[in-house]
Amino acid sequence: MAKKVGVLALQGDFAEHETALGRAGAAPVQVRLPRDLAGVEALVIPGGESTTICRLMDVFDLSGEIEGRVRDGMPTWGTCAGLIVLAASLTDDRPKPLGLMDVRVQRNGYGRQVDSFEADLHVPELGNDAFRAVFIRAPVIAEVGPGVKTLACLDDGSVVAVRQRNILATSFHPELTGDHRFHSYFLSMASEE
Ligand code: GLN
Repeated sequence: MAKKVGVLALQGDFAEHETALGRAGAAPVQVRLPRDLAGVEALVIPGGESTTICRLMDVFDLSGEIEGRVRDGMPTWGTCAGLIVLAASLTDDRPKPLGLMDVRVQRNGYGRQVDSFEADLHVPELGNDAFRAVFIRAPVIAEVGPGVKTLACLDDGSVVAVRQRNILATSFHPELTGDHRFHSYFLSMASEE
């Protein structure tokens, strides 16, 4: 049966994730309230504006619920703003991240002159074909803790995709290119014991 995958739908590009998850064979459901998490087997936190997403998570009493579920092992994937939400710490004052993944993140860290760019990534977990990655005002992963596995880097060595147990994070947007290999990889995480 198709996996029920929640997509946090408070702000940002959740609709694109729903489409990509559907193509990868999952049954996406929008999460706006704590009750929407019932029966959800995995969760995507999309790109958008991390300050807004964090504020709305507090307003709708979702922060504690999501934190508890992730700590219990629910497979969870943050893209771009979603990575910021999951981080242990930020170089910035705002927002206050959930502190679930042992990475330190700098918002908008690639600088104004390159607010948006694309790059072909080598991602061994996805096979030999390059993965076209779209970066939009993307966060920089400035520090990676010992329990965190690097899945992909830019040519300059900058880390852009990481995994720590049940948590996946990418500083780019795999939901925007039509290549759903990252979504399939995430679903395979959700099938691991
Ligand atoms: N710059 C945004 C932030 O700091 C993230 C951008 C994105 O998700 N594309 O929240």
